[in-house]
Amino acid sequence: MRTIPHWIDGREDTAATAGSSPVYNPATGQPQAEVLLADGGLIDRAVTSATAAFESWKDSPLSARTRIMFAFRDLVVQHSAELAEIISAEHGKVISDAAGEVARAVDVIEFACGIPHLLKGEFSDQVSNGIDCLTVHRPVGVCAGITPFNFPVMVPAWMHPVAIACGNSFILKPSERDPSVSTMIARLYQEAGLPDGVFTVVNGDRTAVEAICDHPGIAAVSFVGSTPIARYVHQRGSTAGKRVQALGGAKNHAIVLPDADLDFAADQISAAGYGSAGQRCMALSAVVAVGDCADDLVDRLEKRARSVVVGPGNAADAEMGPLVTAAARDRVRGAIDAGVAAGATLRVDGRGLVVAGHEDGFFVGPTLFDDVTTEMEIYTQEIFGPVLVVLRAPDLDSAIDLVNANPYGNGTAIFTSSGGAAREFARRITVGMVGINVPIPVPMAYHSFGGWKDSLFGDRHVHGVEGVSFYTRSQAITSRWPAAAAPVAAAPLSFPTAH
Ligand code: NAD
Repeated sequence: MRTIPHWIDGREDTAATAGSSPVYNPATGQPQAEVLLADGGLIDRAVTSATAAFESWKDSPLSARTRIMFAFRDLVVQHSAELAEIISAEHGKVISDAAGEVARAVDVIEFACGIPHLLKGEFSDQVSNGIDCLTVHRPVGVCAGITPFNFPVMVPAWMHPVAIACGNSFILKPSERDPSVSTMIARLYQEAGLPDGVFTVVNGDRTAVEAICDHPGIAAVSFVGSTPIARYVHQRGSTAGKRVQALGGAKNHAIVLPDADLDFAADQISAAGYGSAGQRCMALSAVVAVGDCADDLVDRLEKRARSVVVGPGNAADAEMGPLVTAAARDRVRGAIDAGVAAGATLRVDGRGLVVAGHEDGFFVGPTLFDDVTTEMEIYTQEIFGPVLVVLRAPDLDSAIDLVNANPYGNGTAIFTSSGGAAREFARRITVGMVGINVPIPVPMAYHSFGGWKDSLFGDRHVHGVEGVSFYTRSQAITSRWPAAAAPVAAAPLSFPTAH
């Protein structure tokens, strides 16, 4: 069985640690590798390496950092197909979907290539007689990223290119379910010329996460994952004195108004609900059909759900792959059971799906519920599987109230041909990312990504200017050169003013 190591100080690290964990091929249901799990001692060693690397990296010229980022960007593009295959083999998503996440990762690396412009400070001339004021953005030190299984390349890339370009060193703790691709990213950084120790990979589970939260040598933690763990990491890391941004789970609503193009809406919603087997933080999982469009919409959703081709991620015709683990498959099947028991109308049932030749794979087929109400578990829980639930609302006002009453606030989309309704929706909805006839409104890298309410703990979104702000701290320098200024009278003991 292949062993997946850590990456510390520019090389693979296979030191004995807190045991190992199996990594499965979700399409066959068979284990294919063992990933080593870090303990506190290994995290400490990683921090020592990252601290030493930070001391010189923070002083590297902006032009040198930029050149390395450009080289890294080219290498990731060159190796896109290979990266997509590794993602698909451990996550289960289809290759075209995996290629899409690599492309979105490249967007963030390209954003980080512009770091000299983003790090320019502010300068005020002559704030007082002979005195100037300058604000500069310094790196914060050793940063860590703790990431989920569902985007093993893209989500870490929301963090490390920006953190590193800002002059920090970065320790990545990827998901233990699909960790292999992170070591390849580390190799590509090294090939691009990044000094050893600036990018580190530690594999692990809860033990490693807690050691990261507690370690005094780590200045900042970025987390992406489920809401309970996001809340926990935010609290634990903050208590240890770090800055923490922790992005959590989601229940993303699609609101469909009667004036929408229903064929278009149903197609877009199905793609956003069933793509990646619903394992996207921006997956649409709840549909709010407004007014009299519900029956027509549900008919179209049913037709599309029945036509989705499900298969292993590397099958050329597959549109949707398996779930990541047996536990995930069983959780999703259990959620469907609960929906039936609660009285929702099951229009398409994915529980019994069997993929020929892959009978032990972790598959659940596209599933569609109608007549769902807000107290049902299939609505209140994040299912994180290929399950769409349809609720009904009489008008736009009540649809907005329904969405705003949900504790999550990651993404949402409205389908309508009315600009006025869309504008009203965007202004009143308490959600961080809003799509107007766009089902998965993931902002481009030069905007920032993040939700509101229980979908984000902390006050900074990732990448874009908020990412740069998270990975830097401002320093204001007030200076006077007495010989060049007008003579200064003896300094009074009173508080200095600009007058
Ligand atoms: P998860 O919360 O189980 O795991 C995320 C990370 O936390 C992993 O690195 C894991 O090793 C670690 N972890 C797991 N249990 C832990 C514990 N008890 N203590 C400390 N650390 C622990 O999430 P997942 O299943 O890997 O990913 C799916 C979740 O991530 C979904 O809820 C999804 O909505 C969310 N997600 C959110 C976003 C976003 O941008 N808001 C993006 C992607 C995924």
